[in-house]
Amino acid sequence: MEAPERNFMAQHHRLTPLARDINLAVVGRMSDTEVVTYFASLRWGNETEQVCPKCGAIDTHYPRRRRRRSCHRPCGSWEEPTNPTWQCKHCQAIFSVTTGTLFDGTKLPLRTILNCAVLFLGPGNGASSVGISGTSGLAPMTTFLLEHRFREAMAADQPVKPFEGMVQMDGGYFGGKPRKSNQRQPKATREQLQRRFGKEPIASDDDKPWKAMGMTQRNWQKMANKRVVLVVTDSNGQRGEGSRAVSVAVARGGESAYAVGLMAKAHIAPGAIVFTDEAGAYTQLAREHEHYSVSHAKEYSNSEGVNDNHAEAFFSRMRRAEYGIYHGSRPLFLHFYACEAAWRHTHRRLRKSAMVKRLLGTALSLGPSPRLRGYYERRGRRAEVLIDSKA
Ligand SMILES: [Zn+2]
Repeated sequence: MEAPERNFMAQHHRLTPLARDINLAVVGRMSDTEVVTYFASLRWGNETEQVCPKCGAIDTHYPRRRRRRSCHRPCGSWEEPTNPTWQCKHCQAIFSVTTGTLFDGTKLPLRTILNCAVLFLGPGNGASSVGISGTSGLAPMTTFLLEHRFREAMAADQPVKPFEGMVQMDGGYFGGKPRKSNQRQPKATREQLQRRFGKEPIASDDDKPWKAMGMTQRNWQKMANKRVVLVVTDSNGQRGEGSRAVSVAVARGGESAYAVGLMAKAHIAPGAIVFTDEAGAYTQLAREHEHYSVSHAKEYSNSEGVNDNHAEAFFSRMRRAEYGIYHGSRPLFLHFYACEAAWRHTHRRLRKSAMVKRLLGTALSLGPSPRLRGYYERRGRRAEVLIDSKA
């Protein structure tokens, strides 16, 4: 008997039961203890022993099961805490499962964090903070910061090993798009376009380039927010199944030879075969790699099959998120939105429960975020993450 042929008409992975094996109903049926155990086993690898974040002692520490919730409640009013704490048997430090992690100091119940992770990973391309606010009942400011903690975990969970074999590389431009003028304007001249980033000083009152382009000065200066997202894809997957993993980085100066060189050095292994489009910055790759390019002015894939469509597939995902979900992002956060899209792309075929575990597991292994702690009190560190910034 002949071996059965591989079923190329198989169901799409988003339509299988594995794509919904954890959902709000499943989380709702978990008991409080099960939710705590879920987080504890993600953080400490087991359900019975805890690791003291202060002295590092591994033990079954004293559970502080009951505590007074508020001095305003009548005496004897005790409640099970939503984020229970332990006391260390050795140094008496009090800690919870979120102490010293990305969720350090959170007032949210663990169940809420789990629910939000499920909601965040539900859609394929991204989930807006206002959207999650509407379904979870949390304030949009709360969901914004919680989502950014998830994105920080995604940024820390990017592929570390350079890609080997077949690799595709490309750049996509995000942000810095000025609002269109209400009146139809003549096409910008070459000289105006060259000066569009507003770096040169304004010589005189007549010399206001935004006037010639029919813009306000503020709108014209917006163009300085334009950034390029560089992507490298691991294209060794099965034929027809897309790339296996992607790596991303954000650069300020467009697809410059400097930024492309740094990106290639970090994410492409020596000896890899690289496919790009015909942009000038990629010609340097031919020095260390077998390099092929496709002329996008003519075609997306040439007669020999040279293409960078896996890189374009990643940008399609990120562009859908930009237009349809986030409606743009500030340069300050672009790195994290790019890493989110890359994480979603790399792990797109994982079952949902594995995705949630991977995301929360990474978040619980990281320390508090200097970027997000005290964000609304303006204490958060505000610096762009760029590959080509000469620090
Ligand atoms: Zn201790």
